Amino acid sequence: MRKVYLDYAATTPTDPEVIKAMEPYFFEKFGNPSSIHSFGQEAKKALEDSRETTAGFLGAKPEEIIFTSGGTESNNYAIFGVAAAMQNKGNHIITSSIEHHAVLEPAKALEEKGFQITYLKVDKYGIVDPADVKKAITDKTILISVMHANNEIGSIQPIKEIGRIAREKGIYFHADAVQTVGHIPVDVNDLNLDILSLSAHKFYGPKGAGALFIRKGTRIKNFLLGGDQEKGRRASTHNIPGIVGLSRALELCKIRMQEENESQTRLRNRLIREITSKIPDCILNGHPAERLPNNANISIKYIEGESILLNLDMLGIAASTGSACTSTSLEPSHVLLAIGLSHETAHGSLRLSLGRWSKDEDVDYLLENLPPIVKNLRSMSPLYEKKQ
Ligand SMILES: *Cc1c(COP(=O)(O)O)cnc(C)c1O
Repeated sequence: MRKVYLDYAATTPTDPEVIKAMEPYFFEKFGNPSSIHSFGQEAKKALEDSRETTAGFLGAKPEEIIFTSGGTESNNYAIFGVAAAMQNKGNHIITSSIEHHAVLEPAKALEEKGFQITYLKVDKYGIVDPADVKKAITDKTILISVMHANNEIGSIQPIKEIGRIAREKGIYFHADAVQTVGHIPVDVNDLNLDILSLSAHKFYGPKGAGALFIRKGTRIKNFLLGGDQEKGRRASTHNIPGIVGLSRALELCKIRMQEENESQTRLRNRLIREITSKIPDCILNGHPAERLPNNANISIKYIEGESILLNLDMLGIAASTGSACTSTSLEPSHVLLAIGLSHETAHGSLRLSLGRWSKDEDVDYLLENLPPIVKNLRSMSPLYEKKQ
């Protein structure tokens, strides 16, 4: 059966060139970088070269990069780490209502311990207003955490402006940049960031490898305790193949980003234009222009996103939805509710995300198959009948 992957926002395949770079570090060069013998030193060199590449990609200094196990750990580290180091100054954190759960859950855990969290509202396009950030700041605010681009609807936040406000007030600023690093330009100085999270498997690197940028001088407490790896900032033996893969993936993104940006934007615009013209009663979610080049999120009214996914999957097409019937809750995505969608409309959302190997033929195949699926599902939908 034909297979079409339109779910790059969930994870990406590991680029074969990345796999090639990682491979020697499993057997020939398997050393522990903390060992003083030649095996260790070989691994240590790979580690520090990777750190330099990663820092260079972000406009940071090598000593400002810590390698982690991925986006979730980096976000947890940022939130819990600043909260623990700064609790003498204050207990207030500002974030947005559309963050990834890897930010929202740590925030909630802190709330239960007596911290105060402000969850900023977003507009109908899923954008945070920097003026709201300014208004929310109190003399107890220790951290502002706003994601660079949203993983569901692709909206890109005015990070640079929020960073300017944070800097003016002397408050640390963290961004979850898991969806943007490797896809659009990210420079920690240009964006006025103090802390940034990234994850390799979202940019053609391996799963289970990530990094945290921490600007020099930032007070943050480590939470994985053990050995003195990463200068005591993160215990645990380094995942050298993962780290080498992460940095090789960034090198490839650096070369290809602009071209991939253009080709994915073109395919994305085709998806949005043709779906919204071929299928009645559907709307684009997220900002029409300030959005990731690879993200199209569309609500198709009167039907369930999950039913669309199952039908697409039978034809070999992989996509995603903000309707959460498969998970433990029946609640639709917090992001879609935050941009003002009704529960019904949120349940009919379809996220299509493109990547390095997406082609026009993939889009053709989706466009051929989606309209009949929708028509068929609507013919069985009580909601659709009521509307007629
Ligand atoms: C995928 C993702 C994460 C989690 O990263 P993992 O490496 O899978 O733990 C965090 N934030 C955003 C925006 C993501 O898309």
